[in-house]
Amino acid sequence: MMIAIDGPAAAGKGTLARRIADTLGFAYLDTGSLYRATAKKILDNGIDQDDAAACANAAMTLTPVELASDGLRTEEVGQAASKVSAIPEVRAALLEYQRNVAANPPEGKKGAVLDGRDVGTVVCPDADVKFFITASAEVRAERRYKELREVDENAIHARVLKEMKERDERDSSRAVAPLKPADDATIIDSSGLNADQVFEQACDIIVAKRA
Ligand code: C5P
Repeated sequence: MMIAIDGPAAAGKGTLARRIADTLGFAYLDTGSLYRATAKKILDNGIDQDDAAACANAAMTLTPVELASDGLRTEEVGQAASKVSAIPEVRAALLEYQRNVAANPPEGKKGAVLDGRDVGTVVCPDADVKFFITASAEVRAERRYKELREVDENAIHARVLKEMKERDERDSSRAVAPLKPADDATIIDSSGLNADQVFEQACDIIVAKRA
């Protein structure tokens, strides 16, 4: 069974995806981490972000160490990921890996949960269940701000909101694999919900699909 979860930044996709994967004993892939690791490698090595071939090569040659590297979750890397992920050659370089995890979940697991921006539309258009998790920009910025404050006491709320809106706009308007719900996705607006409530709504839908 393959479950696709897409949505904008800080909508609660990762929390939901991890919990569903743990509950069902499925593999979990945070596809954003692939773009973040690629972006970090490009930044760290001074690779020209306008050189599509060099950026694609950085994606193609990602190592497990780079994927687990510290510092992937910073806003700087998130913004860079949003820029390099608009390069078609970078997306193409990461596509097969994602599809392979979905089709052949590691450790003999019986399913996979992938979260990102284009899982239901491009990576796994035949996913058994698709969710699009969203929330107002203000609610998402507030959540991200609280996360950031734990590691950076200089985080500024207005800046978090501004950068989040910029990233959403870039992710939604790019020509290749823009952020948007698949036609057959269930949309959950998590603005007024806590993580348990989102999980319960998602479980009801998965159970109905499996029946
Ligand atoms: O989900 P996360 O915030 O970690 O993703 C970082 C960036 O990677 C996103 O803003 C988006 O530009 C890109 N991304 C993407 N496609 C995905 C997952 C992430 O373009 N499937």
